[in-house]
Amino acid sequence: MTMPFIPYGQHRIDEEDIEAVVRVLRGEWLTQGPAIAEFESALSTICEVPHAVAVSSGTAALHCAFAAAGIIQGDEVITTPLTFSATAAAVAYCGGTPVFADIDARTYCLDSREVEKKITARTKAIVPVDFAGHPADYSALRAIADKYGLLLIADSCHALGAKYQGRPVGTYADMTILSFHPVKHIATGEGGAVLTLHDRFVEPLRVFRHHGIVKMPEQGGWYYEIERLGNNYRLTDIQAALGLSQLKKLDRFVERRREIAALYNRAFAPHEVVTTPYEASDVRSSYHLYLATLDVERIGKSRREIFDALREQGIGVQVHYTPLHLQPYYAKTYGYKPGDFPRAEAYYERAITLPLFPHLQDADVHRVTNVLLNQVSYATA
Ligand SMILES: *Cc1c(COP(=O)(O)O)cnc(C)c1O
Repeated sequence: MTMPFIPYGQHRIDEEDIEAVVRVLRGEWLTQGPAIAEFESALSTICEVPHAVAVSSGTAALHCAFAAAGIIQGDEVITTPLTFSATAAAVAYCGGTPVFADIDARTYCLDSREVEKKITARTKAIVPVDFAGHPADYSALRAIADKYGLLLIADSCHALGAKYQGRPVGTYADMTILSFHPVKHIATGEGGAVLTLHDRFVEPLRVFRHHGIVKMPEQGGWYYEIERLGNNYRLTDIQAALGLSQLKKLDRFVERRREIAALYNRAFAPHEVVTTPYEASDVRSSYHLYLATLDVERIGKSRREIFDALREQGIGVQVHYTPLHLQPYYAKTYGYKPGDFPRAEAYYERAITLPLFPHLQDADVHRVTNVLLNQVSYATA
């Protein structure tokens, strides 16, 4: 008998979500209507920030944020190589240069000491990623940003619902990026948002979302001007209604993710060859991903062999991510090479992402741990 395939992540849609979407479909607005404002207001309440600007994806949100931050040709933005391509690509969309700095070996987030070494006269912003749902080291990063007059822009696409020193995502950085892709904490199909603490970014974000259009009604009801190019990064009301409905379940989703992470942690605790994710004492991770790292030397198998064996047995493992400096585009364009970020590379050689999503059952978790422990166990026996 073949067991059903368990993906690494999956959205959870219920009848209430479906009703919310249908209500929009029966109404007057499909895009940029009242649901957008409601969704933005709910996001800013939950994240305890004054402003949220909803856009069509996390990638769009990054592009809007860098544009609003004034990133242009020649500017440098320091970020981690251990992220999804969009974090660095959005810097390049603005003409800026992504500059990588190595990670902390425990949290897999940007190491603030490495960041400081990369600062030049052209540096404009620091962009930490709350890797796997664990907030980056914000007090250290804030101190560096303030010391050098840089913006702190958080890619928190993994971390909606997380807390750092008791405060929610959105409150640590000048701007904070969220994604509502179906594998993330809440789903809108595609969708994203920029949260900001500062009034001055709100208008530029909204203008960039809508083609760079600045309306000037005093010059006529039709009249607008475009001083800088924007894009069509609008979220639809259909998506915003889904997002609003999903947000109501965020606490439950995060609670269940943490429960599952604890189940995995307990199962792997006796096995030294599996390192479970670290959670700093002043942090509450929202566990977008469950990352185990494998002591491949002691196990005597490559990560590839273990990965393939799990996939063959219906466990949808993943690897997040190949460090960006090893991707041909970034290597060629910016001259990076293997060995440049040894901690990110060491992590990458050993990492495996296990299934984690709110409706994953305890029995599924046990199946995953059994299959993985079978693969690594002869080394520990
Ligand atoms: C998902 C993700 C993005 C991009 O979000 P999309 O909504 O897929 O465009 C950016 N950065 C990180 C770290 C992500 O995980």
